[in-house]
Amino acid sequence: MSRLSLLLIAFCSPMLLFAQGAGLAQAAMDYFNSATLTDAQVAEYSRQAVQQMDQKNPVAAPNDPYTQRLNRIVSRHRTVSGLPINYKVYKVPDVNAFATADGSVRVFKGLMDIMSDNELLAIMGHEIGHVINHDSRDAMKSALRRSAVRNVAASQSGLIGKVSRSQLGGLADYMLGASFSRRQESEADDYSYDFMKRNGYNVMALATSFEKLAKQSGGGGGSVTQILSTHPDSKARAQRVRDRARRDGLAR
Ligand SMILES: [Zn+2]
Repeated sequence: MSRLSLLLIAFCSPMLLFAQGAGLAQAAMDYFNSATLTDAQVAEYSRQAVQQMDQKNPVAAPNDPYTQRLNRIVSRHRTVSGLPINYKVYKVPDVNAFATADGSVRVFKGLMDIMSDNELLAIMGHEIGHVINHDSRDAMKSALRRSAVRNVAASQSGLIGKVSRSQLGGLADYMLGASFSRRQESEADDYSYDFMKRNGYNVMALATSFEKLAKQSGGGGGSVTQILSTHPDSKARAQRVRDRARRDGLAR
């Protein structure tokens, strides 16, 4: 092979791959756009991704004191706003919790260790708020879209339609890193506030849970709180809850 053709191959191949990749990526985008991906599919992908998370993390056994405490706390809330919820504890030191579009709520041991029962309810109420408000669904959709695009660009295979197990692992990561807009956070806070109020709990638990998280992050005590990196402005949000509680006559 001549030097020139080698040079041409070296120069052209990436361009060619890029062109093919772009076309297929577009196909992937088309497949995974909001119109074709139903809520039921998103819920199913979420359920599978949570299953993978459950395999990767130490789930507290049914007779574990952490499971028993969580079960006691949520006993009245197996269904929230018409959505059946399944709850589990991960026995890891992280201060974190998340909820997904299929109605899975996972609470981490580190969070349970620093929060009161009411504060845990307030945080779970906030996370469930993201699900009810469809924030979780939309975040999952965009994760699926990104993963489909990545997959197609990498494999050059035109057929999508199935999400592989390794991709699901990647999707599981989104659940820990999904960050929502300020408006979505405020609306999830409002959802939790209403949830607490409607069920006769002290709404101030929402404020004190944020304040504990803020303290945790500022205290330099070691564990960087994931929930805070994806949920900024804890102090401002606690103040917003306090202001609302005062207006509602539920706080001084
Ligand atoms: Zn949030």
